[in-house]
Amino acid sequence: MRAEFGGAVLELVQGDITQQATDAIVNAANSGLAGGGGVDGAIHRAGGPKIMEECRKIGGCPTGEARITTGGNLEARYVIHAVGPVYRDGVSGEDRLLASAYRSSLRLAVENGLRSVAFPSLSTGAYHYPLRDAADVALSTVVGFLQNERHGLELVRFVLFDGRTQEEYERVLRRLSPHTLG
Ligand code: ADP
Repeated sequence: MRAEFGGAVLELVQGDITQQATDAIVNAANSGLAGGGGVDGAIHRAGGPKIMEECRKIGGCPTGEARITTGGNLEARYVIHAVGPVYRDGVSGEDRLLASAYRSSLRLAVENGLRSVAFPSLSTGAYHYPLRDAADVALSTVVGFLQNERHGLELVRFVLFDGRTQEEYERVLRRLSPHTLG
């Protein structure tokens, strides 16, 4: 499913984030930038040791922020490491921190002159953010950024790993944009 916001295409696909040929892919990182399971493990496996070398030099990243490194052996030239919140009880600032992780990633993409970026569904795996709420925060934040900020982005793609995640994101995108491009 695709829709247009602020001159950029917002696209939802089912797939594997490591296989995307966008200028950058976003990692669901932890605050130590230390690698891990899920998206993080897959990116370091596919991208090789250069990515971790740069992560070590950076040292870490607070929750709600993002840092950029090489894409190593990936097709994407850069990896943007975004740290989403661990979901606790829903009233511990999770929505603000999740929105901030998306916004920080997009800001880094723009500062580096990138035109296309692919996101996974941050925080909805090991960090247990309820999927429906996470999809809402993710898409409204990205749409708000595309509509309100100066950017040269042409494509923001969400790469959703499983059918249920894709369905929830599609439901939210349909609500945000009644005129999806199909
Ligand atoms: P977090 O720790 O932020 O919750 P995870 O990596 O555990 O991040 O999971 C985030 C989401 O990414 C989950 O929906 C998970 O199913 C999905 N996911 C796992 N591996 C991949 C992959 N290779 N490409 C895209 N999405 C993935």
